[in-house]
Amino acid sequence: MFLWRPALKASVDSELCVGCGTCEEICPAVFQLVDGKSHVKVEMVPAREEAACKSAEKNCLTSAISIE
Ligand code: SF4
Repeated sequence: MFLWRPALKASVDSELCVGCGTCEEICPAVFQLVDGKSHVKVEMVPAREEAACKSAEKNCLTSAISIE
């Protein structure tokens, strides 16, 4: 049975981000460092990237990443 669920949306609080690059290393499809801060490259997280994206959130030193 196919269960539909809405796609996740990631965001980065630039006030908290210290530009360590961990999120980009873990999930380069979603996060990218620009001028020393992480930015989200895609509006919605592709399903195949959800696990990596959640791992990036968990491993962010400053809890700057939110996933809804
Ligand atoms: S892991 Fe967190 S602090 Fe490091 S670049 Fe990504 S959002 Fe910024």
